[in-house]
Amino acid sequence: MNALSGRIARLIASQGPISIAQFMTMALHDPQDGYYATRDPFGRGGDFTTAPEISQMFGELLGLWCVQCWHDQGKPAPAQLVELGPGRGTLMADALRAAKLMPDFLASIEVVLVEASPALTAIQKETLKDSPAPVRWLTQFDERLSDRPLFLLANEFFDALPIRQFVKTDRGWCERMVGLDTNGVLAFALAPEPSAGFTLPPNRDGAPLGAFYEAASGASALAEQIAEIIARRGGAALIVDYGYGVEAGFGETLQAVKDHAFAGVLDSPGEADLSAHIDFAALADAARSGGAKGYGPVEQGEFLTSLGIIPRAERLAQQQASGSRECGHLGDSPQAEAQLERLILPDQMGTLFKALAIMPANAPKPPRF
Ligand code: SAH
Repeated sequence: MNALSGRIARLIASQGPISIAQFMTMALHDPQDGYYATRDPFGRGGDFTTAPEISQMFGELLGLWCVQCWHDQGKPAPAQLVELGPGRGTLMADALRAAKLMPDFLASIEVVLVEASPALTAIQKETLKDSPAPVRWLTQFDERLSDRPLFLLANEFFDALPIRQFVKTDRGWCERMVGLDTNGVLAFALAPEPSAGFTLPPNRDGAPLGAFYEAASGASALAEQIAEIIARRGGAALIVDYGYGVEAGFGETLQAVKDHAFAGVLDSPGEADLSAHIDFAALADAARSGGAKGYGPVEQGEFLTSLGIIPRAERLAQQQASGSRECGHLGDSPQAEAQLERLILPDQMGTLFKALAIMPANAPKPPRF
């Protein structure tokens, strides 16, 4: 049992079982021992690798997507380019380098990075020290944002937001909690009574006994807040993550990843990444509730291909062969062709990962949706 599981166990012993959302918040963000609060989890030496760490092409194309939306909405100035959960800052650095193609855009924006982790904020500051646009940091997405039009990117951010789990029993939908087993070790336990006030979304009717429903109310509330801002002031949001397309299933998707392998969710809180599938349909609904329009989700492979990643990879491969690189980072797999395959092939990140766009209802359709 590590120090954080000991503290969580003592909390449960004194207060009773906690929700999975509360467990996730402590495991990921505890200031002393939380996973993100204390480490740089990315890359070969870390626990998992994300698309921007695989290849500079990912951030470049997402950056150009934002530039195109800004252009299509009449080049509003001033504007803000916000990223949620920027990790090492790699995506933003690649996006800003690509955006140099449109100097007006860079001259109009302030970059805002929303990051809870002090450890990762320090790395982002280093990555972005030569940023061509001013950058500032917020620990959460809140009123400290300016009132400018909002152009927003989020890659593998929503999957880290806390979820609650409910299981269908013959008594009704009961919440799955984190309690203690007879040895005082963290263990899942179903609440004995159905949750009061629990309502299932209409598309989940007909679930069999034993079905799981994962409620990501924080993710939906955030998507709605983003949508309200975009509907009112203009802008565009692109959310890329792994998860369900049209129909979310009834399975359990909460997972822990450590050293590039799955681990037990409760085994070593603070030492493994925790995440769950995104319900894209729920996020699109939230965008509509916020008064904006949701587009997609489109599978990552299809989306990046339609944005031109194949010719971009060919060009990058030529530059790599001639020994010159367009001042991007080398990526996790050094060859452009291997990077391309990891990002777009169906058995890699091409179909499980998807992109969803949130736009003002009256704005031109976003590129490639
Ligand atoms: N977008 C990056 C990192 C993804 S990991 C990439 O693609 O490489 C998730 C990121 O979100 C980390 O930077 C983590 O510290 C941050 N994060 C997770 N939960 C957060 C929260 N509630 N508020 C702010 N940042 C959060």
